[in-house]
Amino acid sequence: MNGRTVWKKNDTAVVRIEDIGRDGQGIGHAEGYTLFVKNTVPGDLAVVRIVKAGKKYGYGRLMEIKEPSSFRVEEACPVAGKCGGCQLQMLEYAEQLRWKEKKVREDLERIGGFGNLLQEPIAGMEKTFRYRNKAQFPVGRDKNGEITAGFYAGRTHAIIPCEDCLLGPEENSVLLKAVLTWMKTAHVEPYDETAGSGLVRHVLIRKGFRSGEFHVCLVINARKLPDSDLLIRTLRAAEPQHLTGISFSCNTSRGNTIMGNRSQVLWGAPWLTDALCSERFGLSVTYRISPDSFYQVNPVQTEKLYEKVLEYADLHGTETVADLYCGIGTISLFLARNAGKVIGVEIIPEAVSDAKENAVLNGIDNAEFYAGKAEEIIPRLYEQGLTADVIVVDPPRKGCDQKLLETIARMKPERLVYVSCDPATLARDLQWLGMHGFQIEKLQPFDQFPMTVHVESVVKLTRAGL
Ligand code: SAH
Repeated sequence: MNGRTVWKKNDTAVVRIEDIGRDGQGIGHAEGYTLFVKNTVPGDLAVVRIVKAGKKYGYGRLMEIKEPSSFRVEEACPVAGKCGGCQLQMLEYAEQLRWKEKKVREDLERIGGFGNLLQEPIAGMEKTFRYRNKAQFPVGRDKNGEITAGFYAGRTHAIIPCEDCLLGPEENSVLLKAVLTWMKTAHVEPYDETAGSGLVRHVLIRKGFRSGEFHVCLVINARKLPDSDLLIRTLRAAEPQHLTGISFSCNTSRGNTIMGNRSQVLWGAPWLTDALCSERFGLSVTYRISPDSFYQVNPVQTEKLYEKVLEYADLHGTETVADLYCGIGTISLFLARNAGKVIGVEIIPEAVSDAKENAVLNGIDNAEFYAGKAEEIIPRLYEQGLTADVIVVDPPRKGCDQKLLETIARMKPERLVYVSCDPATLARDLQWLGMHGFQIEKLQPFDQFPMTVHVESVVKLTRAGL
């Protein structure tokens, strides 16, 4: 703390922002003391008021930008600074990509101990807005008591009104407005979190980018939806061409979970149909996605990412492939046409049903799906004699379960493709795999979420010594 004793709450400091933290805040140093400052980007010279001063680091509120960074750009969205979604919107896109590449490299080095890995350049997007195929708008009342929908402000549940999120398709706002119009006409109350009263909690809108279809699902705090005929008429009038299904999901719990139990159809198809294609591999796979199932939210990048999985899996039509954490079987079915057999494992039973239906829909008969925890199913199948030439894992942020990694090491696949949405847990798992018979051949980061801090990576591992 050269020269200065201790920084305290309400002190003012001038800091040059040098880096970006995990949550997207700028990081700078005031006389050696680390400060996290929201709404700043590397290169900014910022005047900040310290709002929280810990021993090792503190948090500052941006008061003034003395010198803006050359990477700073005007935010395209009017609520960018308030809504928790786009942490990096004021950072030039090329710089967002550079930071994500660096983050992957640094996590692998710092946590995994890997220097000098063969890292392919990050796959970025040409169109950096309107890429999301799914939006979930919480519904509530604004300051004036008007029914509104938008987004939760970062870390809180205050609704920031925003009917047109720039990450989603333009049609979302038309559909959302139609739901709000129906609520006002039919005197339907929005859900009140504190009291646990009211009806409409969330509006979920999904678009199939290849099919052009839209599906709207209302999450409600009741078993039945009143005036549903009027809702159907209003929504269909708003989007007569592309709306193919309306459903509702009943969630009467007091918690934060968005979706309730299995959704019920009100009109049209109970699912959304979409396709993922690869020109490079001459593939097109159609998927039915029910409102409850996980589906990759950025289909343009997903196609690129799955092509990379196929490339790294290096299939010749005969291999047995295990696709673990398989969701609705998207990767499994993408690989199935080039493999002998594919086994998919997924914890959510509804997603497994979707996966099985999707196999039939595409005439794929060499894919089997199991519902359960990968760390329980795979050891059991292995004991029953299952072997795999290639294993693909695509776990949630917390990474792979230790028991699963141990079984994978015992199964000795020739190739392992690791799809990760968190470089830190990826680095931890790769370090373990590196000590248990695998070597990293190469990896590529993917920007699935422009404007946000998230970064995905695909890694190719082979068995050491093969
Ligand atoms: N590979 C799929 C899904 C990836 S998301 C795709 O590309 O679409 C991660 C998936 O892992 C989710 O579907 C989640 O439900 C599932 N999951 C989470 N924990 C799991 C576990 N212990 N065993 C199996 N699946 C799990």
